[in-house]
Amino acid sequence: MALFKGTILKSIILNTHRALTAGIRYASVEVPTDDSPVEMENPFTKERRQCILCKLNITPDYKNYRLLSQFQSPYTGRIYGRHITGLCKAKQTAVEKEITKAQNCAYMPYTYKDKAFLKDPKLFDPENPVRTHRF
Ligand SMILES: [Zn+2]
Repeated sequence: MALFKGTILKSIILNTHRALTAGIRYASVEVPTDDSPVEMENPFTKERRQCILCKLNITPDYKNYRLLSQFQSPYTGRIYGRHITGLCKAKQTAVEKEITKAQNCAYMPYTYKDKAFLKDPKLFDPENPVRTHRF
Protein backbone atom coordinates (compact mmCIF):
# COMPACT_ATOMS: atom_id res chain seq x y z
CA MET A 1 0.00 0.00 0.00
CA ALA A 2 2.80 2.38 0.96
CA LEU A 3 4.64 1.56 -2.25
CA PHE A 4 1.51 2.26 -4.29
CA LYS A 5 1.08 5.66 -2.55
CA GLY A 6 4.72 6.45 -3.22
CA THR A 7 4.41 5.76 -6.94
CA ILE A 8 1.23 7.85 -7.22
CA LEU A 9 2.89 10.73 -5.42
CA LYS A 10 5.97 10.40 -7.63
CA SER A 11 3.85 10.43 -10.79
CA ILE A 12 1.91 13.50 -9.61
CA ILE A 13 5.12 15.39 -8.88
CA LEU A 14 6.59 14.37 -12.23
CA ASN A 15 3.44 15.43 -14.10
CA THR A 16 3.30 18.85 -12.41
CA HIS A 17 7.01 19.35 -13.10
CA ARG A 18 6.45 18.47 -16.76
CA ALA A 19 3.47 20.81 -16.95
CA LEU A 20 5.45 23.65 -15.37
CA THR A 21 8.46 23.20 -17.64
CA ALA A 22 6.18 22.92 -20.66
CA GLY A 23 4.50 26.15 -19.61
CA ILE A 24 7.84 27.90 -19.28
CA ARG A 25 8.95 26.64 -22.67
CA TYR A 26 5.65 27.69 -24.19
CA ALA A 27 6.00 31.20 -22.70
CA SER A 28 9.57 31.53 -23.90
CA VAL A 29 8.50 30.58 -27.43
CA GLU A 30 5.94 33.44 -27.45
CA VAL A 31 8.60 36.17 -27.01
CA PRO A 32 9.25 37.81 -30.40
CA THR A 33 12.69 37.23 -31.78
CA ASP A 34 12.72 40.67 -33.42
CA ASP A 35 14.80 42.88 -31.09
CA SER A 36 14.10 46.23 -32.78
CA PRO A 37 13.05 49.18 -30.53
CA VAL A 38 9.32 49.61 -29.97
CA GLU A 39 7.61 52.99 -30.51
CA MET A 40 6.05 54.15 -27.26
CA GLU A 41 5.10 57.29 -25.34
CA ASN A 42 7.81 58.80 -23.12
CA PRO A 43 6.85 57.67 -19.60
CA PHE A 44 8.99 60.41 -17.99
CA THR A 45 7.22 63.45 -19.45
CA LYS A 46 5.77 65.65 -16.72
CA GLU A 47 2.38 67.23 -17.19
CA ARG A 48 2.58 71.01 -17.58
CA ARG A 49 1.69 72.75 -14.33
CA GLN A 50 -0.45 75.87 -14.57
CA CYS A 51 -1.56 78.26 -11.86
CA ILE A 52 -5.29 78.51 -11.18
CA LEU A 53 -5.68 81.93 -12.85
CA CYS A 54 -3.88 80.79 -16.03
CA LYS A 55 -5.88 77.54 -16.09
CA LEU A 56 -9.22 79.40 -15.90
CA ASN A 57 -7.91 82.28 -18.06
CA ILE A 58 -8.73 84.97 -15.46
CA THR A 59 -7.13 88.40 -15.56
CA PRO A 60 -7.20 89.98 -12.07
CA ASP A 61 -9.07 93.25 -12.00
CA TYR A 62 -9.36 95.78 -9.15
CA LYS A 63 -13.16 95.91 -9.61
CA ASN A 64 -13.39 92.14 -8.96
CA TYR A 65 -12.44 92.60 -5.31
CA ARG A 66 -14.28 89.46 -4.26
CA LEU A 67 -11.74 87.35 -6.17
CA LEU A 68 -8.83 89.49 -4.96
CA SER A 69 -9.90 89.14 -1.32
CA GLN A 70 -9.20 85.39 -1.57
CA PHE A 71 -5.49 86.22 -1.88
CA GLN A 72 -5.60 88.23 1.36
CA SER A 73 -5.04 86.87 4.89
CA PRO A 74 -8.24 87.09 6.99
CA TYR A 75 -6.19 87.94 10.11
CA THR A 76 -3.77 90.63 8.99
CA GLY A 77 -4.98 91.61 5.53
CA ARG A 78 -1.58 90.80 4.07
CA ILE A 79 -1.36 89.52 0.53
CA TYR A 80 -0.33 85.86 0.45
CA GLY A 81 2.97 85.12 -1.25
CA ARG A 82 3.60 82.88 -4.21
CA HIS A 83 4.65 80.00 -1.97
CA ILE A 84 1.09 79.98 -0.59
CA THR A 85 -1.05 80.95 -3.58
CA GLY A 86 0.82 78.82 -6.13
CA LEU A 87 0.39 81.50 -8.80
CA CYS A 88 2.92 82.09 -11.56
CA LYS A 89 5.09 85.18 -11.22
CA ALA A 90 3.18 87.28 -13.76
CA LYS A 91 -0.24 86.59 -12.20
CA GLN A 92 1.09 87.08 -8.66
CA THR A 93 2.45 90.55 -9.48
CA ALA A 94 -0.80 91.38 -11.30
CA VAL A 95 -2.84 90.26 -8.26
CA GLU A 96 -0.67 92.32 -5.88
CA LYS A 97 -0.95 95.37 -8.14
CA GLU A 98 -4.73 95.03 -8.45
CA ILE A 99 -5.17 94.50 -4.68
CA THR A 100 -3.21 97.70 -3.99
CA LYS A 101 -5.32 99.51 -6.58
CA ALA A 102 -8.56 98.17 -5.03
CA GLN A 103 -7.37 99.20 -1.55
CA ASN A 104 -6.59 102.70 -2.79
CA CYS A 105 -10.05 102.87 -4.39
CA ALA A 106 -11.55 101.77 -1.02
CA TYR A 107 -12.99 98.56 -2.47
CA MET A 108 -10.89 96.48 -0.05
CA PRO A 109 -9.68 97.08 3.53
CA TYR A 110 -5.95 97.28 4.28
CA THR A 111 -5.66 95.41 7.59
CA TYR A 112 -8.37 92.75 7.47
CA LYS A 113 -10.42 90.71 5.04
CA ASP A 114 -13.98 91.88 4.35
CA LYS A 115 -16.38 89.94 6.61
CA ALA A 116 -18.75 89.25 3.70
CA PHE A 117 -16.02 87.23 1.93
CA LEU A 118 -14.83 85.16 4.91
CA LYS A 119 -16.94 82.13 3.94
CA ASP A 120 -15.94 82.13 0.27
CA PRO A 121 -14.47 78.86 -1.05
CA LYS A 122 -10.69 78.76 -0.77
CA LEU A 123 -8.57 78.67 -3.92
CA PHE A 124 -5.58 77.27 -2.00
CA ASP A 125 -4.73 76.06 1.50
CA PRO A 126 -2.82 78.72 3.48
CA GLU A 127 -2.25 76.18 6.28
CA ASN A 128 0.04 74.07 4.07
CA PRO A 129 2.39 76.43 2.23
CA VAL A 130 5.58 75.44 0.40
CA ARG A 131 7.56 77.61 2.84
CA THR A 132 6.54 78.55 6.40
CA HIS A 133 5.04 81.98 7.10
CA ARG A 134 3.95 83.96 10.17
CA PHE A 135 0.52 85.22 9.03
ZN1 LIG B 1 -0.08 81.43 -14.29
